[in-house]
Amino acid sequence: MSTIAFIGLGNMGGGMAANLVQAGHQVRAFDLSAEAAARAQGNGCAVLPTVREAVQGVDAVVSMLPNGAIVENVYGADVIGQAPTTALLLDCSTIDVATARKVAGAAAAAGYAMVDAPVSGGIAAANGGTLTFMVGGSDAAFSRAEPILTAMGKAVIHAGQSGAGQAAKICNNMILGATMIATCEAFALAEKLGLDLQTFYDISSKASGQSWSMTSYCPVAGVGPASPADNGYQGGFAAALMLKDLKLAMEAAESAGAEVPMGARAAELYEAFTAAGNGGTDFSGIIKTLQS
Ligand code: NAD
Repeated sequence: MSTIAFIGLGNMGGGMAANLVQAGHQVRAFDLSAEAAARAQGNGCAVLPTVREAVQGVDAVVSMLPNGAIVENVYGADVIGQAPTTALLLDCSTIDVATARKVAGAAAAAGYAMVDAPVSGGIAAANGGTLTFMVGGSDAAFSRAEPILTAMGKAVIHAGQSGAGQAAKICNNMILGATMIATCEAFALAEKLGLDLQTFYDISSKASGQSWSMTSYCPVAGVGPASPADNGYQGGFAAALMLKDLKLAMEAAESAGAEVPMGARAAELYEAFTAAGNGGTDFSGIIKTLQS
């Protein structure tokens, strides 16, 4: 078993670090929040007062941080040049492709192997160890990352070279944002046309309108499997996080010169939904803006 530094013990990182402990790893944890650090300590992590101290002598560093600027700063100031160069670096945060490549490049120049390994799955999957990891990095780095990530997830997929994990994540979530809105629109129109919504679900879930947004996360209360719609759109995947991912997709599309008209419209609609005070609402709650 390995000694692993874990940086960022929030909603996602807290459960992930606990699962590394459960798998038998020694986890040296750090978070700016004393409350998050105390929770990690309760889950069997050793809490260190700084990132620099947390990364001393470790076999690997895992991070789960809010955004690219923070990831760049933490790795640049306190991980690269501080952790042993034999340590594998794994950033699991969702960040922009360009920053992921830049940080991995700086790590490589200093002699480290690094992977970007963003996740699909929310807080329940982080706690339950059932995340899906999309990994960008060399074949050798992926082989080293796989057993560590397996302790926190149900699937670990090599997406390609550095940045490919982030690219896969934002392309996937761009589909999710657009299909959720399309599904919400269809239910709102079906209702106005006098269709029974359960009947519409029974038809569309077995016809070509089927998608994950419909059959695994139906935005209508009482229809389909249990979802945040059944809980007043609380819990689940916050609209603010969907907007974050769509903005990353728009940035990436612009720099790659890709046409993404549906993704762009989804980003505008989630921007408006969030600006109206719904950032903490589950992203399927956007159906409320279409039902009036
Ligand atoms: P969070 O805000 O709950 O946790 C982030 C943690 O990082 C906080 O505890 C914060 O104190 C800590 N932090 C911030 N700056 C730090 C620093 N410089 N050094 C050490 N710790 C620092 O966020 P989260 O929901 O856990 O999300 C983390 C990442 O996972 C994000 O990139 C997010 O986009 C991604 N993600 C989240 C979900 C989800 O459902 N919450 C799903 C998939 C991916």
